[in-house]
Amino acid sequence: MSSQTSECGCDSTAHNLMTIDEANVIINESINKIISLEIVAIRDSLNRILASDIISKINVPSDINSAMDGYAIKYNDLVENSITKLKIVGTSFAGKPWHGKLNCGETIRIMTGAVLPGTADSVIMQEHVNRNDDYITIEGCHKKSQNVRGIGEDVNVGDVILKKGKLIRPAEMGLLASMGISEIKVMQKLRVAFFSTGDELQPLESTLSSGQIYDSNRYSLFGMLSRLGVELIDLGVIKDDKELIRQTFISAAECADVVITSGGVSVGDADYVKEILDEQGTITFWKLAIKPGKPLAFGKMNQSLFFGLPGNPVSVMATFYMIVQPALLTMMGHQNTQVFTVQARVLSDIKKRPGRLEFQRGILQQEKGQPLTVNSTGGQGSHMMTSMSNANCFIVLEQDNDGVKKGEMVNIILFDGFM
Ligand code: AMP
Ligand code: MG
Repeated sequence: MSSQTSECGCDSTAHNLMTIDEANVIINESINKIISLEIVAIRDSLNRILASDIISKINVPSDINSAMDGYAIKYNDLVENSITKLKIVGTSFAGKPWHGKLNCGETIRIMTGAVLPGTADSVIMQEHVNRNDDYITIEGCHKKSQNVRGIGEDVNVGDVILKKGKLIRPAEMGLLASMGISEIKVMQKLRVAFFSTGDELQPLESTLSSGQIYDSNRYSLFGMLSRLGVELIDLGVIKDDKELIRQTFISAAECADVVITSGGVSVGDADYVKEILDEQGTITFWKLAIKPGKPLAFGKMNQSLFFGLPGNPVSVMATFYMIVQPALLTMMGHQNTQVFTVQARVLSDIKKRPGRLEFQRGILQQEKGQPLTVNSTGGQGSHMMTSMSNANCFIVLEQDNDGVKKGEMVNIILFDGFM
């Protein structure tokens, strides 16, 4: 590593590298958003992007109902600073309302979700009454309208409840169902083709000869892309052969909105990706000021967007999460691709040379009631997939950071949702 360290202790390979923010701006300018729509059933809508506003045709709740198991009363029946005695004249169940009308001095037993009878306006929790045959007595302090859910408290008829561009998560599936909506318009799935490049890459379960490795990138890419709900086009492993890579790029660009490759974007003798992309489309080749993941090719061929990711497995995942994924989500029509950072206290020193923004792998922990702490996963080599697997967050160390001492606060990005 000494050959990469200058006299000042900086990362000497980091000169004139582009920042991740600059790269993301350029990518955003090249993005074409998906415009085609399709209609899907709610159960098929997870991770899809809503293609039109959802306006509710009903109020939710559509009746005044009880938030508790208890007794429905007229608030004005309560005797201030004394005991109130009321006669039980009926029962209202969820789905089986009591159709009577409360008179003064009367109450009904009511279950959670059951409709309140006309003239009742409050509910006393069953734990707060004493029952004696057909009578209850109530003591203590109570508020008018307590434990009552009003009409439209959650959703108002005619309101825009979900906006175009909203990601459908389990909460949206439930919310749509609560309005009785069974199908929605979503953006068509993004078609993403991906392949690995490298003569050393072998199929799983095969016997490896010296110098050979299993192709792991296509599996982590498969997993990361599956989570985004895109249409996957797996083009396999392509040897370091210029003509084969050329043909694969051409056919990938014909069938996909986005093409993602791993490997072959460095400056080795068998790294043909950059050359072919240069020849077939418009390509920007970047050395980014990030670690892991310095070499990255980005460009366009016809209408397809290209991301040529590095070969090292951790670099593939880090560049995917920090660069490719936000771009894919934007193309899919997602309105909010913001990634949140939170702060945690580091439990041991972390080494770093100034020069590149680093995404070290960390383990975030929290003792009950205590602030967040984070520990490094240990070895941070970009070939070490165990560091990704052991991690539940990235520890984000800014470009000019020169290491962190135990006890200092660091920014972290939690592996959550799509990570
Ligand atoms: P490259 O960018 O092609 O020079 O590859 C950089 C490193 O990543 C080399 O050690 C490769 O063997 C490794 N690598 C490339 N592609 C893959 C892959 N699909 N799965 C696992 N490792 C890979
Ligand atoms: Mg290679």
